[in-house]
Amino acid sequence: MDKVAVVTGANRGLGREVARILAMRGYRVIGTVRDPATGDVMRERYAAEGLRFEPLAVDVTKDDAGERIAAAVADGVDVLVNNAAVALEGFDLGVVDKTFAVNWYGAARVLEALLPRLRDGGRVVNVSSGVADEATLPDAIREQLWADGLDRAAIDQLLARFRAGVANGGPPDGWPRSAYRVSKLALNAYTRHLAKALADDPRRLRVNAVCPGWVRTDMGGPAAPRSVDEGAESILWATEIPPDGPSGGFFRDGEPAAW
Ligand code: NAP
Repeated sequence: MDKVAVVTGANRGLGREVARILAMRGYRVIGTVRDPATGDVMRERYAAEGLRFEPLAVDVTKDDAGERIAAAVADGVDVLVNNAAVALEGFDLGVVDKTFAVNWYGAARVLEALLPRLRDGGRVVNVSSGVADEATLPDAIREQLWADGLDRAAIDQLLARFRAGVANGGPPDGWPRSAYRVSKLALNAYTRHLAKALADDPRRLRVNAVCPGWVRTDMGGPAAPRSVDEGAESILWATEIPPDGPSGGFFRDGEPAAW
């Protein structure tokens, strides 16, 4: 049976590199690419190298994004790299909404649509960030993020409260003034929740969050210390976690990262 991987945001940056290497490792890769013309060029280029890359024009903020990706992997999927994200300048309600739409609601939408399609030993890699380190957060916020039963609905509620605070002049007490950071804190909390919720799933799924480090992409900028392949390697490590390997963790370069 074909090994199948889905990578969101596969047209540039870390997603492109991860998708290319997974294809080189023998995966049939379905890569989301918002611009169909870019996708066609990529497909042809990879095909010329003997790699199977299937672009799928999907904007993860759209309601049907999950269904469309799931339809492309009707026979099952082994690896999901939930990578697409934005890091926008500034801090206001518009930035909060746009950031949450991609980095939280988009990531959760894709993940939930593909969960039923994951095969035995399937791996989900939620591409997170070192900014999701909770060490500098007040205890009260950390307690909310680690609360028992913090499921999708409860995380949505936390983010709705954050948004309401911003609408009223600023984030609620103790929350950082960064929509990007909050979106990745939410993704990490969801990673923990899902790993627990799926612990008895007979498919032995592994759900982890990964920080690629600060990487020279459009997002990371030219001053970042890491190359794209170094960042991609950190992500790729988690696509190879065996069925008895860790789940519900946060990793950088294959080592546990601080929550
Ligand atoms: P990037 O170069 O800016 O690429 C972002 C990717 O996400 C692009 O393919 C982009 O597609 C896609 N995307 C954005 N909005 C989308 C939407 N609504 N629907 C579908 N795709 C969308 O970023 P990167 O540096 O490769 O980052 C990749 C991941 O690593 C992200 O999750 C980021 O948070 C994380 N990360 C990066 C760094 C860093 O230093 N670079 C550090 C920590 C974590 P378009 O081209 O169509 O916009």
